[in-house]
Amino acid sequence: NEPDVPIIFEGAFLVDGFVTRADILKRKGDSWHVFEVKSGVNDKEEFIDDMAYTAMVIDRCGFNISDVWLILVSKDFRLGMENEKLFAEIDHTDEVLERVEEFKPLWQQIEEITRAPVKPEPQLLFECRKCEIFRECLGRGIDNHIFDIPRLSQSKFNELTGSGIVSIEDIPDGFPLTENQARVRDCVLTKEPFVGGSLKSELTSILWPAYYLDFETVMTAIPLYPDIAPYTQIPTQYSIHKCSDVGVIVAHSEYLADPSKDCRRELAE
Ligand code: SF4
Repeated sequence: NEPDVPIIFEGAFLVDGFVTRADILKRKGDSWHVFEVKSGVNDKEEFIDDMAYTAMVIDRCGFNISDVWLILVSKDFRLGMENEKLFAEIDHTDEVLERVEEFKPLWQQIEEITRAPVKPEPQLLFECRKCEIFRECLGRGIDNHIFDIPRLSQSKFNELTGSGIVSIEDIPDGFPLTENQARVRDCVLTKEPFVGGSLKSELTSILWPAYYLDFETVMTAIPLYPDIAPYTQIPTQYSIHKCSDVGVIVAHSEYLADPSKDCRRELAE
């Protein structure tokens, strides 16, 4: 905390086993202006949690926080503008400091859990469905977990787990499922794939020759060409196979854009 250091990038903070890195800290008198930088153009609710955690740890380390701002890529930036216009800054101080107050009561509880010599018993919650280690944790050894049911709602999840059901095989007959969900359950129970009745007629309606198109695009934060917004998807490459029958390729054409210019029209034509 040297007074002659006006800005810190990626400053790391560690206290009571909690660790964070602030993207940018800017000194403002006796306090600090915290900036969180995200590589997107849209603000998201989850960023408030992210910033609140960072702000809470910094505060706990004894640093005063005056403001918390989010820096995004500006939707309005275009190639050729000054660099400063590349960013959009949003003041989230009030929402973040409010969220910090909500987080604070959990500090001690989390500290006790993370410092405990043995890991806590996992408990299956709806949130587990998005957990990166679900298959190594509560999903271990369960081939067809109820989380594999498409669009399973929290109320159905609660109802099933309330009855001790975590496998699709154990979902009772008559349990309310959508058509698609019931189809998945049937496939699991019968161990048979589902083939829709109209698939064959749809495939036989294909007129030959048929053309198989594959293409690639690029999206960049700093636009590659004039009059294009950041993260615009630009097609750059395609490949077309012409087939006279199933698996019989009679011609192939392809296109690869010249990166020095905007080739979208050329590619389409
Ligand atoms: S699956 Fe993930 S979220 Fe659920 S208890 Fe295990 S570690 Fe926690």
